[in-house]
Amino acid sequence: MVGKLIVVGTPIGNLGDMSDRMKETLSMVDFIAAEDTRVTVKLLNHLDIKKPMISYFEHNKNQKGEYICNRIMGGETCALVSDAGMPAISDPGQELVSQCAERGIEVTVIPGPCAFVSALAVSGLNSGRFTFEGFLSVTKKNRFTHLNSLKHEERTIIFYEAPHKFLRTIKDLFEVLGDRKIAIVRELTKVHEEVVRTTLKEAIEKYTKSPIKGEIVLIIEGYKNNKKEQYTLNEAVCIASGLIEKGYTILEASKIVAKDTGIRKSDIYKGLTEI
Ligand code: SAM
Repeated sequence: MVGKLIVVGTPIGNLGDMSDRMKETLSMVDFIAAEDTRVTVKLLNHLDIKKPMISYFEHNKNQKGEYICNRIMGGETCALVSDAGMPAISDPGQELVSQCAERGIEVTVIPGPCAFVSALAVSGLNSGRFTFEGFLSVTKKNRFTHLNSLKHEERTIIFYEAPHKFLRTIKDLFEVLGDRKIAIVRELTKVHEEVVRTTLKEAIEKYTKSPIKGEIVLIIEGYKNNKKEQYTLNEAVCIASGLIEKGYTILEASKIVAKDTGIRKSDIYKGLTEI
């Protein structure tokens, strides 16, 4: 019988966030594929679980993915974990899940904390529509290509960032996106958890004076298209004529169209009466 792959979320800072299902799963699987076995062994020691582990990380994922799939095809059950949070989210795992799916291996999930989802939830910014952008590239060209592609993005924008790159990142964000609201969400679930709701401009001032520490998620408000479409007087008069045909009086039509187009009511009225 074929085994299965179980994608297991682990805490992002607070061991109290471990679920019963997570603990049960880690103790019942045949082996664990871990991003860094030295990190995962600490979690297992805390839970008093002893399990064979193999490392599965960015640079061995092709060769190890094949090996893990073969073991699962041979009947074993594997838990996939990363150092913290959900595997496959800015962490190794996505390729292994694809490889398993291609071979018809069952893949299930034990959901755990995810830094960006938790950060978005406490940011106070629009969480209805958002785009998760992972880490920005360190190379200038790729970084700016990425940022420029988001210039007119109307959804809330989310990045992961490391403290030593943070100041450069908010300066680059300000340069490309202009001043925007930003929530800087730091050290979630840990002693120094903090949410700073500010603007990019104010953030640059603040963090130039006192550098940031810890793990960070950036939540940035989307592009706001405040400019009204530009109408000519002729176009406004045409729209108003349409309303009059539908039964509105000249005055009513002038009022409505003035509000919608930003053109003066008296000009539209004059235009209508001079036709
Ligand atoms: N897979 C993880 C997840 O689902 O949350 C993310 C892994 S990614 C390699 C690590 C990044 O996640 C950090 O650089 C930081 O941006 C963010 N992060 C992880 N833990 C965090 C925490 N406790 N508070 C704020 N951000 C965190």
